Amino acid sequence: MTNQDVKVKKSTKTKTPPDETKKLPIEKEQKNENRMFWADSLAKEMLEKYPDVNHVVSDAKTPSGKIHVGALRGVILHDVVYRALLDAGAKASFIYRFDDFDPMDSISADLSEKFSKYMGMPLCDIPSPIAGYDNYAQAYANDFIEAFEKVGNHPKIVSTAKDYRDGKFNDLIRVSLEKSDLVTQINSKISGTKKDSGWLPIHVLCESCGRIGTTFAHDFDGKTVAYTCSGAKYSKGCNFSGRRSPFDGGSKLTWKVQWAAQFKVYNVTMEGGGKDHYTVGGSREVADATSVQLFNYTPPFDMAYEFFLVGGKKMSSSKGVGTSAQEITNLLSPQILRFLVVKYKPRTAINFSPYADTIPKLYDDYESFADSYFGRKQARDPDEPRIFALSQVSRNELEKPIDRWKPSFSLVAYLIQIPHVNLLTAMENAKGSPLTELEKEDLKETERAAKVWLESYADPADKISILQQTEGVKRFLDLSKGQQNALAEFADFFANNFDQTKQAEKAREVSIKNEISVKDFFQAAYTVLVGKKEGPRLLPFLATLNRQFIVQRLKGVQ
Ligand SMILES: [Zn+2]
Repeated sequence: MTNQDVKVKKSTKTKTPPDETKKLPIEKEQKNENRMFWADSLAKEMLEKYPDVNHVVSDAKTPSGKIHVGALRGVILHDVVYRALLDAGAKASFIYRFDDFDPMDSISADLSEKFSKYMGMPLCDIPSPIAGYDNYAQAYANDFIEAFEKVGNHPKIVSTAKDYRDGKFNDLIRVSLEKSDLVTQINSKISGTKKDSGWLPIHVLCESCGRIGTTFAHDFDGKTVAYTCSGAKYSKGCNFSGRRSPFDGGSKLTWKVQWAAQFKVYNVTMEGGGKDHYTVGGSREVADATSVQLFNYTPPFDMAYEFFLVGGKKMSSSKGVGTSAQEITNLLSPQILRFLVVKYKPRTAINFSPYADTIPKLYDDYESFADSYFGRKQARDPDEPRIFALSQVSRNELEKPIDRWKPSFSLVAYLIQIPHVNLLTAMENAKGSPLTELEKEDLKETERAAKVWLESYADPADKISILQQTEGVKRFLDLSKGQQNALAEFADFFANNFDQTKQAEKAREVSIKNEISVKDFFQAAYTVLVGKKEGPRLLPFLATLNRQFIVQRLKGVQ
């Protein structure tokens, strides 16, 4: 059950024998028992290693500014593992940690003037740049929480600063101070980092200036440490020297030691991270070794994931949509955004460009995966149904996604460009029956996303309008005799026949009769309606427009 996309720790001491026990329910759904969706495979392995614990899936971020879409990929992937655990029958919870006790060590240009004086202070102690929040960290954390909740992730939120101040890290701070030589050794052996003698793996909160990133600590006497606020690369210190207790929020651990401590404090059994943490001798390797050797805690299962870029770098400033998590949730419907993440394995880089037809294609892909799930077509990839299920925003739907009628994104995008078209009526005509409440909700969301796409990203070729009467007739007269006759004969049939399968047959029949190709027939229809040689799928499109108008236009009536 190895999977190249999920790096699983091999430090496992107890391993369940392979011939063991009953099969997990999830396995029954798989045709090939040896082949599983990567998250199900990971969940199975976690359950085999720890059958009786409450599994804790954890993800984290330092809320130092607007949070990038790459971190959103992290939340969704962790949520997928969490859901896979629940589906496999595990007891599991999902937490999201904001490392808000970290110092501010960089600042965006727009805040620089007002906020540079706070450099080096814990993010949770800096005022919010946006009205309505208690502090700087909370403002950006909230923006991000809003974004990931929209997409169906509901982890329990943890503030590292609060837990430091509540004393939850005290025991581990003590161990780290008492065994600081071991920390130095681990760092030196794995990452080659050298530390000055007397170095301690903490940052003390300066009692004089309130900075935490600028202090140098030494000499732990069992209760207090000595420190000097001597400054850091990004900020001057205040030069204060003194002694204070490192406990109850008096200090924080240096970050790789802190990462290891967090595994233990929150009983984490699975936590991944961006691939930049996974270099040889990198931070995750150091954190894992620290977890084992210093804190006697088996490191959690792992998952390294690749970048998620939106349109490379050129996007960030133009067109109002950049690369923050919040911005992409405005661009794509929630289940489509989840789908975009779930569809790719963690180790595959996602470089999403919203231009041209990427977005309509993504919506079409989603519908095609839905068809695999509901058994309307044979899946090209056996993971398709599972990917569709895990792309659902609500877990109720995950247990049993609800089948519903959906128009293609392109059709909605075309129709909203045509004046006097009532979208709902048009859709009910296309479906052939009234829309359910869920279908109406879907339609609203698709309409919203289609508007954003048309305004900012669509090619001019995707923009259409119905030709005015005179122009339409002129185009009709420009067609070949065969095309004119074929359209007119089709129009007579179309006037009284609502069945799209029969209409398609008729289109073929009149083409053959008038000695033109079916392609010529369709091009002729698009030409008289929208003045182009192509457009949305013709028959569903015709179903949404006024029937009398279509009949007259296809006959070239003045
Ligand atoms: Zn200071």
